[in-house]
Amino acid sequence: MKRTQWLEALREAVAGLEAWEERWPGDAAPEVDDEARRALEALVTRLGGNYPFFHPRYAGQMLKPPHPVAWAAYSVTALINPNNHALDGGPPTAELEREVVAKLAALLGYDPGLEGHLGHLTSGGTVANLEALWVAREQHPGRAIAFSAQAHYTHGRMCGVLGVEGVPVAADDRGRMDLDALEDALRSGRIGTVVATPGTTALGALDPVQAILPLARRYGARVHVDAAYGGFFALLARRDPPLVDPAVFGAIGEADSAVIDPHKHGLQPYGCGCVLFRDPSMAAHYVHDSPYTYYSSAERHLGEISLECSRAGAAAAALWVTLEAIPLIPHGGLGERLAAGRRAALGWAECIGESARFRLVMPPETDILAFAPVPAGRRVRASQISAWSQRLFERAMSEEVYLAVAGLDRALLQARWPDAEIVWDVERVSVLRSVVMKPEHEGWWPRLHAALERLSEELIARG
Ligand SMILES: *Cc1c(COP(=O)(O)O)cnc(C)c1O
Repeated sequence: MKRTQWLEALREAVAGLEAWEERWPGDAAPEVDDEARRALEALVTRLGGNYPFFHPRYAGQMLKPPHPVAWAAYSVTALINPNNHALDGGPPTAELEREVVAKLAALLGYDPGLEGHLGHLTSGGTVANLEALWVAREQHPGRAIAFSAQAHYTHGRMCGVLGVEGVPVAADDRGRMDLDALEDALRSGRIGTVVATPGTTALGALDPVQAILPLARRYGARVHVDAAYGGFFALLARRDPPLVDPAVFGAIGEADSAVIDPHKHGLQPYGCGCVLFRDPSMAAHYVHDSPYTYYSSAERHLGEISLECSRAGAAAAALWVTLEAIPLIPHGGLGERLAAGRRAALGWAECIGESARFRLVMPPETDILAFAPVPAGRRVRASQISAWSQRLFERAMSEEVYLAVAGLDRALLQARWPDAEIVWDVERVSVLRSVVMKPEHEGWWPRLHAALERLSEELIARG
């Protein structure tokens, strides 16, 4: 088993750490006892209730296990459990964090020099976006924050948390922020910040960052880029030929702030997001002088530029090791892994486009596909499409094909499928959604598709 090899690698790393611990004799580590063994056994039984996220048969949500090298790095570092709040909580992992954040800054087009940007890891995209919106509010007090109707729901919610007006902007028929609608909102003069999402959560659509930037600037607004999901696709924009729109990703470096989630496409365990600011002087917003923090040196501590206090140094260590082993390069490294998923999405989309039983919602812009059972040459109700999608989702799962269901506005589908004979009897329509984010999906999608064709034939024949 490949897992066993990784256990061996982890064992060697743990042995190395034990050699370091032996400098302080008087081992405090507890013995393995029966209670611990029994509890672990019980856990493994309970964990069996999960879907097989590791397997290419799972193509539902944005879920997959971390790369084993990240898991091993996290595990060995967790034995020490450094806290990246302050340098005193673990100088080595604080240093590793600065190095990986610089790499992520370079990936998104920011100046990777230590004084060239401001950034840190977070527990995820939610907190990373919250920090960016909070700084946006501080920079433009009293002004609203605009985001696309297809943006992650966290933006609307966090506007509530921050006491800022949130302004949803209509999306176009490809799920991207509509530029005319954005300009209408900007003309009111009350928008202080525009959020662009290259890689939306539902459809993987790319908001046109390169067009949003000059528009927002014309009206004196900041731009925040929520690349929590899409950020790593910047690698594919740099491939020759590019596998995603290079104009979108080439513009992110001009934005005031950006978020990227290594626990989405960076092969990390949960607990790893990142927020970046183009202007390092944004650090001033974070200033505090609590009497109980333990800043013992004049050097800047990560807790002085982060909203969260305690953070796992193990997360920084895991990302650092991963990026050493699997570098952020367009060809090879992480680029190769993402390219396989992207090709899977393109191949599967083409196949769905030719199917007589399915309709593609839109050509995928990343590695997320949305499609629905819509039999060709037959009049159907939109509510029937929703019911079929739901039933297909459940039937597929019983055959070990795992997809997800997403609800889309009827207006979007109506614009996408002008020729379809659909009676639009509901405002929101359920469609199937699939995230093909594992490299193995490139070889597997034809099997997943074949299962869906067969199941949909049965379903549609029945009514
Ligand atoms: C996942 C996601 C978020 C939320 O991030 P978490 O890491 O789940 O907290 C925000 N925005 C986008 C675009 C996302 O895909």
